[in-house]
Amino acid sequence: MPDFDVKKIREDFPILKRFINGKPLIYFDNAATTQKPQYVLDSVDNYYKNLNSNVHRGVHTLSEEATNEYESARESIRKYINAGKSSEIIFVRGTTEAINLVASSFGSEFFNAGDEIIISAIEHHSNIVPWQMLCERKNAKLKVIPVDDGGEILIDEYKKLLTEKTKLVSVVHISNALGTQNPVKEIIQIAHNAGVPVMIDGAQSIQHSKIDVRELDVDFFAFSGHKVYAHTGIGVLYGKESLLNKMPPYHGGGEMIKSVSFEKTIYNDLPYKFEAGTPNIEGPISLKSAFEYIENIGLSKIEQYEDELLEYATNRLSEIKNIRFIGTAKEKKSVVSFLCGDIHPYDTGTILNNLGIAVRTGHHCAEPIMKRFNIPGTVRASFSFYNTKEEIDLLIEGIIKANKMLS
Ligand code: PMP
Repeated sequence: MPDFDVKKIREDFPILKRFINGKPLIYFDNAATTQKPQYVLDSVDNYYKNLNSNVHRGVHTLSEEATNEYESARESIRKYINAGKSSEIIFVRGTTEAINLVASSFGSEFFNAGDEIIISAIEHHSNIVPWQMLCERKNAKLKVIPVDDGGEILIDEYKKLLTEKTKLVSVVHISNALGTQNPVKEIIQIAHNAGVPVMIDGAQSIQHSKIDVRELDVDFFAFSGHKVYAHTGIGVLYGKESLLNKMPPYHGGGEMIKSVSFEKTIYNDLPYKFEAGTPNIEGPISLKSAFEYIENIGLSKIEQYEDELLEYATNRLSEIKNIRFIGTAKEKKSVVSFLCGDIHPYDTGTILNNLGIAVRTGHHCAEPIMKRFNIPGTVRASFSFYNTKEEIDLLIEGIIKANKMLS
């Protein structure tokens, strides 16, 4: 892409200057977590150097300033995903906590024995286990949309799974294990036609494409800051106010109350009802600056460049004789998962690490889909806009070398 200056962008990420095993770091583990630009690091540094204080409680200047930063971050994040109200932005630790919150709170309010929840076969464990726990508590039933051999979910099978007992559909937007991009708008519409709300796990989509929660008409949307160039320990649960208002609190404690007596406690309004205790204050500040950083480059440019990287990597990997792609959906983002013949992914990953190349190996917290393909795991390279085609060429060289050593 001619107007995308990746060399300049790489300068923004201090960690990319590192050497690993004597070789320049090539970081292809972006689906696990992304690296942080100096702009984001500075925002948190500035917070601790100049503003650090607890929020919402003090009349003193620092507390007021910290509160303003925290709440203005909520407002920026609202704008970024085009939510209607900032009270619909709930700060959580990450995608996992967001899903647990909905499973616990929505689950306790709306699920009864015999009710059903629909997920898909390509979910991350964090969009499986909380629902299994809910099913155990409520004697409800988990139903799973199957996928074809390319890792694409079967929409007709999904339609058949929806019944009068379905209380929620919760599916991943982009699979971290395969890269499949689900047709979430269609999935949401189909559920809504049956009167069923939908939760989307956006852990792998927020960093790659425009998310507009109102355009999607999604009921709950979850993502993690660390996957979108912000710090760990912060994430967002977006929820429609009409649903969040009907749901009971998740955790109890300070912040989530209006008044407390031993006889009766009155809960706070949204979003605080779901934010018990001193929050992660630096997290929203970090996330706000990560979104600013992205907007400064331009999300559509980022998306186009990352799509080019994925296509280039897929083509170059196809040149390797014993390559077996796992996940070949038509719509994919930023992830290639593969095996080389019968070589164990761990062995390939270890040799690549010796060459300074960070890939992920294993089941990627998505064991059921690995079982579906009858494999123990894959090698996964996942791309970000700071990666380059030259790095992909070095990955290919590394895989060829590993194949020679291991075959
Ligand atoms: N869903 C998907 C698709 C993911 O990729 C991940 C992280 N690998 C999660 C959920 C969980 O995110 P976190 O660990 O940040 O809570």
